[in-house]
Amino acid sequence: FYCPVELRVGATLDLPAEAARHVQVFRMQPGEHITLFNGEAGTPAGEYDASIVQMGRSHVTVQIEGHTAIEREAARAVHLLAGITAGDRMEWLVEKATELGVASITPLEAERSVTRLKGDRATKRQERWQAIAASACEQCGRNQVPRIHAPMDLAQWIKAGSLADAQRLVLSLADGTQPLAQAVQQAGNQPLVFLSGPEGGLSPAEEALARNNGFAPVTLGPRVLRAETAPLAALGYLAAL
Ligand code: SAM
Repeated sequence: FYCPVELRVGATLDLPAEAARHVQVFRMQPGEHITLFNGEAGTPAGEYDASIVQMGRSHVTVQIEGHTAIEREAARAVHLLAGITAGDRMEWLVEKATELGVASITPLEAERSVTRLKGDRATKRQERWQAIAASACEQCGRNQVPRIHAPMDLAQWIKAGSLADAQRLVLSLADGTQPLAQAVQQAGNQPLVFLSGPEGGLSPAEEALARNNGFAPVTLGPRVLRAETAPLAALGYLAAL
């Protein structure tokens, strides 16, 4: 259960509302044991064994009894800068990318993104995607929740100076592009960021901006993958490595 508060062996605490609701859904009872994680890398990282000491209609009190330092992150951090896709496809991408170990996702407001998010709507969607990532962690046993950043366009991302030390690759359909496998061979455990386009692809201006800022084009093969399939295929390849 994702419990984004300070966790300490010996402490007794009321679970945050969302975690308490999950425990109720599973019809757990006092005396039963659950595993908690707070999603942070260094607090210390890992999982906490807790027993349920009391339950009410809307609260669950637990006592934390032990801590296991366990790390399930990939040796190589892989970040996504992925074109925002329409409908629930972006949610699906966030869920699956989390399972595949993504370190962070920046939803890209690409020139050809069908969905445009502004102000409150952007904040609400970001919060929703972040919650989906947390719940995917609960499902797959990840105890560090990937950060889902605020949506931004490529120029803003570059200006922010994000991931300056990372290998930068753009998933590209251009002819003569080197295969992904070839591009990732030499880089050891250097962080990596994949840029991928929305349904309509990246515009020529975005492709040029990416290349001028160190993004090397890579191909995933001769078929045109959907906007959510392409970054997942790239992540899957890295996860398998
Ligand atoms: N008609 C669009 C175009 O020609 O750019 C198709 C875009 S595709 C649905 C969405 C994104 O997925 C692309 O911008 C690219 O980043 C990525 N992509 C899809 N298939 C790919 C492949 N075989 N190799 C590399 N990237 C791919």
